[in-house]
Amino acid sequence: MMRLVALLLIVTATAAHAEPQRLAQAPGDAPAAPAKPAAPAPYVLPEPGQPAPAPATPVESIKPDPAEAAAPPADEPAATDQPEEKKGVVKRAIDAVKSLIAPKPAKELFAAKKLPSLGEAMAIGYYPRGCLQGGVELPINGAHWQVMRLSRNRNWGHPDLVRYVKNFSIRAAKATGWNGILVGDLAQPRGGPAFSDHTSHQTGLDVDIWFVPMPKETLTPEQREKMSAVNLVADDWKHVNPQTYTPQHMAFVKAATEDPQVDRVLINAAIKKKMCETATGDRSWLSKVRPWYGHHDHIHVRLKCPAGQPNCRGMSSPPPAGEACGDSDFKFWFTKAIEPKKPSSKPPRALTMADLPKECKQVLAAPAKSSKTQ
Ligand SMILES: [Zn+2]
Repeated sequence: MMRLVALLLIVTATAAHAEPQRLAQAPGDAPAAPAKPAAPAPYVLPEPGQPAPAPATPVESIKPDPAEAAAPPADEPAATDQPEEKKGVVKRAIDAVKSLIAPKPAKELFAAKKLPSLGEAMAIGYYPRGCLQGGVELPINGAHWQVMRLSRNRNWGHPDLVRYVKNFSIRAAKATGWNGILVGDLAQPRGGPAFSDHTSHQTGLDVDIWFVPMPKETLTPEQREKMSAVNLVADDWKHVNPQTYTPQHMAFVKAATEDPQVDRVLINAAIKKKMCETATGDRSWLSKVRPWYGHHDHIHVRLKCPAGQPNCRGMSSPPPAGEACGDSDFKFWFTKAIEPKKPSSKPPRALTMADLPKECKQVLAAPAKSSKTQ
């Protein structure tokens, strides 16, 4: 405390001379509120996590962050009888001190790790609040897959997830007649929060896969940065776009569910509805296909916690039984969820290490695996 007061005094004294720098301030990555998307978005997608959908209907995931509201400035001085100018100086000084002592956002720490940690593979924590020990890399090319957006270094996951993607690529190719699949983000080498797009994908058990057939040729790194996924949803946000949606997309989604470790496959409600209307034969797979914000140009596959991972926290409940194809299953998604969003006044607070399971500190501090391959 004494150190803090001393620091405050020093900064106050210097504040009049120099504009204090805001430190430890990361670029905001407020998960884009899924406002009514006017145009097909490129591959920048709202993720399950925020905002929490209103009542009962959608139970997919992730509670709103209880800590969104920044702590009130309890240590703000009363500053009643100071001249305005002085008040400004004091406030800036206090801001400077706060920023000096503020913990770094966890996303900065995790993004800085280019390789996974040594240790047994472990998914730690919850999809939007966790990390990954002993992650493995999905190679960027396989017979039936190619990884996109290599610059993001997010082709890492729990070994179960990497195995899943490899196996799914074969099933998907067979089911659709495509050459294979285009894979978006898995996780960072050590999981954890990331700079952009996601609130989940932190434990190495989530993967995004595009609604785009893999081309025959091997894409160049540049093509992998620039290509966009294809939006399957019409402008009204309640129907699929007949120009882009094909029956192969349903075969693709069905194939994604066909693995006992899949907890759910998140997808735009309009696409699920179309599948509800057109699926024939066995329809049991539809229960794992759950509507979520965004996901109009890719699916998000979430695996259950692997066996023997005591620190992994799965979804609190399995997807409700049944196809979930009734009008009531879509009501929220075709009304409230597609209303234009009010701009929120404050970006959500970035997660710090204190928000993550304590084991994540060890994951961050652990030595790296010496090679990218396992
Ligand atoms: Zn995702």
